[in-house]
Amino acid sequence: MDDRSRGWWWLGRAAALVLLCAGLHAAASEAPMLVARLEPALPRDAAARIVAGAEDGHFVAESYAALTPSRHGGVWYRVRLASDWTDSRPPVLKIADPQGLAVTAYLPPAYAGVERSVYRADGGAEFTRHAISIVLPDDLRADQPLYLWIEPASSVPRRLAITDMAQARARDIVDARLDILFPAIQLATLLVMLSFFIVLRERMYAYFVGQMLFIVLFEFYEFGIGFEYLPFAWLAPLGIRATWLMSLLAAILSIDFTRQFLDLPHGAPRLDRVLAHASWPLVALALLVIAPWIDSIGWIEDVLAFAFLLLAPLLLVAGLVAWQQGGRRGGYYLCAWVPGLLFVIVRALQLALHWPQPVWLEFALPAAFAFAGIVLAFGLADHIVSIRHERDLAHRLAEHDMLTGVLNRRAILARLRAAFLAAREKDRPLAVLFLDLDHFKRVNDSYGHRAGDQCLRAVIAPIATELRQGDALGRYGGEEFLVVLPGATVANAEGVAERIRHRVEEMPMLISGMRVGLTLSIGVATLDPDVMTPDDLIERADAALYLSKSGGRNLVSTHRGPLAPAGEAMREAWPHE
Ligand code: GH3
Ligand code: MG
Ligand code: MG
Repeated sequence: MDDRSRGWWWLGRAAALVLLCAGLHAAASEAPMLVARLEPALPRDAAARIVAGAEDGHFVAESYAALTPSRHGGVWYRVRLASDWTDSRPPVLKIADPQGLAVTAYLPPAYAGVERSVYRADGGAEFTRHAISIVLPDDLRADQPLYLWIEPASSVPRRLAITDMAQARARDIVDARLDILFPAIQLATLLVMLSFFIVLRERMYAYFVGQMLFIVLFEFYEFGIGFEYLPFAWLAPLGIRATWLMSLLAAILSIDFTRQFLDLPHGAPRLDRVLAHASWPLVALALLVIAPWIDSIGWIEDVLAFAFLLLAPLLLVAGLVAWQQGGRRGGYYLCAWVPGLLFVIVRALQLALHWPQPVWLEFALPAAFAFAGIVLAFGLADHIVSIRHERDLAHRLAEHDMLTGVLNRRAILARLRAAFLAAREKDRPLAVLFLDLDHFKRVNDSYGHRAGDQCLRAVIAPIATELRQGDALGRYGGEEFLVVLPGATVANAEGVAERIRHRVEEMPMLISGMRVGLTLSIGVATLDPDVMTPDDLIERADAALYLSKSGGRNLVSTHRGPLAPAGEAMREAWPHE
């Protein structure tokens, strides 16, 4: 699968996840109701008159079942069933999207005010704080309205629904599961990346962890779980400001992560500077959000929505730029964030334009974030693969000869040492071939040094063809090569050497259209009992090589018996050309 089709595959998965959530949510059948708002608004202390029905003539019907708070003052709502409640299970009024909302409910028959919000512990333990759920009397009639006083809050409409207790519970359980499912997926990727950071000490993993942590905390508060359990509940007095704070911290860390992950300082320095500067207004906004003396909170939500409307496309552009520059990271980033950032844009638009939050968006955002976490974790794992490639390359460069690609002197000597120890320990044969190109100086002198290099590279293939797995070939120096043959007897080694010699002799070597006769001489030595060190073995092979040279070149000679002083004498006698 290429990068592009893998991208579509992932996007398909994300879409399926979102559809699944929407499907899980579509079920419950809701009781028809009439929702009306008091116009003009009356203060809260008009409660006695209102619940007595004295203002009923001034309630104006809403076009759909939702509460729309006003940031300038409290508002009164009246909710009535379209027909009497006949089910034996009591009806439950659910107020969706309850962030920032404080409601006082006046229920029949007594009409005593009960304050409800997701930030208060006394809201009734039978439901989670994903929504405000108010249990209504089980004999509620159509002519018994309930009245709701809504404290000032951002004027985003909040959907209302009345279902029976059983359905309300079932729906609440589905919500609760999804509330946990998506943050749990993100926490899992977070923990894996945290362990990578602890082991590898690479900053990028820390940025990922920070970003995911605050996205998870944001979801906890957005879903109301955060206000239910310690230590998260310590921020309950902040109310909706806790949610805003987490979203801002997540955004600030997402910027840092994006800059690092996409390597923007190098790849797109201008964009990098823009993003770096974009953090500061967000930091200022985070401070404003928690400043206790700023209580006109309505406008903060608009500023926040505006900030996210600017930031999300900027991050998408960063991903696109990195992708256009051919980076795999850009591809991973886009794959991960396209759904999430698009949903961020939709959510910010919904908040800025004061639309009610569609049901599907409630879980689309966390689902997309969880998806992003998984894809980014893959992206970061891919980063480890590239680190490993770099390490392997460095390893290769350290062990191999640049010109010919075979082992360098240090590496072939290390192999020989290892083979020597293994052969001694297991009492197995071992042979070494010392190869030296004949009259190589002449090749250089006649055709030039580059042609000489070409010949050095060309002899590798015919030599390597004769080697088996476990044998080793290395460049010992200049035009001299060493072959280590573990397990080879004298006869084996002589056979291999003879075949190598023949192959090189037969090799068609053309330089500038002219055929060059390239030959080599080989010395063979094996592990005899009186060989004490790997160096002894090389020395013997070297001595045998001199025999081949003095014998007329293009020959294979084998060292036999102890290294006699005669060998030294022969070396002296051998004419170096
Ligand atoms: P013989 O071994 O047959 O006695 O003759 P020779 O000419 O090969 O002998 P010698 O060892 O004196 O010369 C080796 C030459 O190999 C010297 C040098 O010019 C050449 N040589 C060594 N390393 C390289 C290299 O990396 N590239 C090229 N082109 N030539 C090299
Ligand atoms: Mg030489
Ligand atoms: Mg030579």
